[in-house]
Amino acid sequence: MSLSRRRFIQQILALTAGGITSPLMAYDASDNAPLKKTGVVLDPSFYLHDHKDHPENSQRLKAIDEALTKQKLWSQLTPVAGRLASNKELLLAHKQGYIDEIEILSKDGESFYNAYQEDTYINEHTFFAAKMAAGSAINVNLAVYDREIENGFALLRPPGHHALENQAMGFCIFNSDVIAARALQKYRGVKRVAIIDFDVHHGNGTQDLTINDPSIMAISIHQHPFWPLTGDLKYIGKGPAAGTNVNCPFIPGVGNGAYLGAYDNIIEAKLAAFKPEHIIVFAGYDAHWQDPLADHRMSVIGFNKLVDRCLESAKTLCNGRISFSLGGGYKLEPLAQCVAGTFHTLLNNPQKYLNPIGESPDGEVDSQEQLDELIRHHRDTV
Ligand SMILES: [Zn+2]
Repeated sequence: MSLSRRRFIQQILALTAGGITSPLMAYDASDNAPLKKTGVVLDPSFYLHDHKDHPENSQRLKAIDEALTKQKLWSQLTPVAGRLASNKELLLAHKQGYIDEIEILSKDGESFYNAYQEDTYINEHTFFAAKMAAGSAINVNLAVYDREIENGFALLRPPGHHALENQAMGFCIFNSDVIAARALQKYRGVKRVAIIDFDVHHGNGTQDLTINDPSIMAISIHQHPFWPLTGDLKYIGKGPAAGTNVNCPFIPGVGNGAYLGAYDNIIEAKLAAFKPEHIIVFAGYDAHWQDPLADHRMSVIGFNKLVDRCLESAKTLCNGRISFSLGGGYKLEPLAQCVAGTFHTLLNNPQKYLNPIGESPDGEVDSQEQLDELIRHHRDTV
């Protein structure tokens, strides 16, 4: 463990023990890190929600931690404190009965949320970790919104984009991004928040929770048709929210061209029309070509370019206010390299131009026809 990594953990432990509620941790100037640049939250409880035979396990965070250590990233980051979301904050996205259900199941120890479908596991730490994930997302977003940090990344588990108002699914328990968006609205009077989801799976939970809400734009680029079988073009938002749900579905085999093309030709314009005051990115990396759970062919540099575009949009539209929260990515090496690549991009380090692991040996399926169809569709829904 490098000295700076050790110091980072000491800061987290000291802060947790002290019960400090300010989102931003005391900054140690002797660490040679740039002041107030990119924040990161990684709470020890995120490792405790775990199941060793499941693809969404704590090894993912260990691999990310090792890559950040090897690439000397920890010393460049500003630690942000994790904290538990309150029950009131969880109610910004979920029903009380569902919150109680997760608490009770978690107390019972290891099980699956749905006994007939072993996708979302729960253990005795899940309720605590999921509340910590949602509260930490709130903290990172408040720190960004208040300009205590320029941007930030919550390395949280369990993830949230499949979580529905009343139901866990797809490895997700509480929808931390929607909770954080609504917390910004509640605590800071933010009028419009955009959530950009580039996880390879459709963010059905985020779509469902915001489909009637004109104050949150939910954008998702994903493989389709694919689990969870949602995310087609007919879902554009209802009533006054029409045009604020932006799905960009792509068939298997597409890669950087499709994702960047969707951003340049659709997402940028949708964001410009919506005028968000804050952007949250659900950063899933399971569209990487080596990922075992999906069939898209993004590369590390493709993700870096996508992240750069998100930063550009934030700079142009909302004073640079943008945060990231961890989504999928189930092969450890590409996941770790992608997260490190995102940090290099947030920090504008020259390493953002590197492409560890390279491109798919099978190339990318041409996405122009699908892209044209998407452009036509979304032009009509602005
Ligand atoms: Zn995913």
